[in-house]
Amino acid sequence: MQCPNCGYKEMEERIYDETVSHGEESKTLTGMKGQVCPSCGEVVWDKDSYDRFFKVQDELVIAARKKRNKNVARSACMAMTTK
Ligand SMILES: [Zn+2]
Repeated sequence: MQCPNCGYKEMEERIYDETVSHGEESKTLTGMKGQVCPSCGEVVWDKDSYDRFFKVQDELVIAARKKRNKNVARSACMAMTTK
């Protein structure tokens, strides 16, 4: 396929690991498949890999939010007991 970024004609198919991170949370996705442009480095994932990436990213955002809520609850509780 042609590179959408620079127009290079022969993007190379690659399978690699991608680490997704959000705040303190991170997760490694193995076997991510995509086309890499040897000219400019642009990466175009196939649909499956793309979906997996965003699904994991969502999970990390939710996990980070839950953690934050827990901390808020704890400090509210401490505020009550110190009164
Ligand atoms: Zn390119």
